[in-house]
Amino acid sequence: MTKIMIVEDETALVTLLKYNLEKQGYETIAVMDGKDVISTALTEKPDLVLLDWMLPNIQGIDICREMRRSYELRSTPIIMLTARGEEADKVRGLSFGADDYMTKPYSIPELMARIGALLRRVQPENRQDNLSYEDLTMDFAKRRVMRGDRAVHLGPTEFRLLQYLMEKPGIVLSRESLLKLVWGGSIHVELRTVDVHIRRLRRALNEGGEPDIIRTVRSAGYALDSSAGEDEE
Ligand code: CA
Repeated sequence: MTKIMIVEDETALVTLLKYNLEKQGYETIAVMDGKDVISTALTEKPDLVLLDWMLPNIQGIDICREMRRSYELRSTPIIMLTARGEEADKVRGLSFGADDYMTKPYSIPELMARIGALLRRVQPENRQDNLSYEDLTMDFAKRRVMRGDRAVHLGPTEFRLLQYLMEKPGIVLSRESLLKLVWGGSIHVELRTVDVHIRRLRRALNEGGEPDIIRTVRSAGYALDSSAGEDEE
């Protein structure tokens, strides 16, 4: 059974979310205090986390960052739920490791659709065991990416982005096609979101000081290319 962890300090919202998620057949666990989130997630191992931005004690964004640094929780999908509607906050939420972002008041059917879409896109692939390009290898069974001897830590969205780039090395994939492949063409996701996740992917891939391996082609898209080093983003 798919387990969804609700991190929210407003009782009424917890009740509403629990009711709707359980009606859809999900198992739920609710955490109302920011300081309990990491320990509960480590024990309960949820399949997805709905994370409120404004929480007592620890802010959602800090929890998000901490989850992405944790070996056990780094690939758990996260949807940030927030009262903030500013574009800058959205980009900030995504760049701290959230996979999706919804602004309150959100529509329950839309939230359910996004949860379904996010869960579908993080399902393990069974068609191939691994992919490789230059010093990069992707192991599907272990959900692990290596650059040379170094393990590259990626969230689920970055993993999927890299997968599509690695399936067609050297080929420029447009932001529109990446959006369709990774996000299932959701009308709620903007093209800029692709750029935010590519930036995170690139940072993780080059973290050890390796040459840039993602080529940005202005107004066209992105490609995996070992001669990308000279490009600026
Ligand atoms: Ca709150």
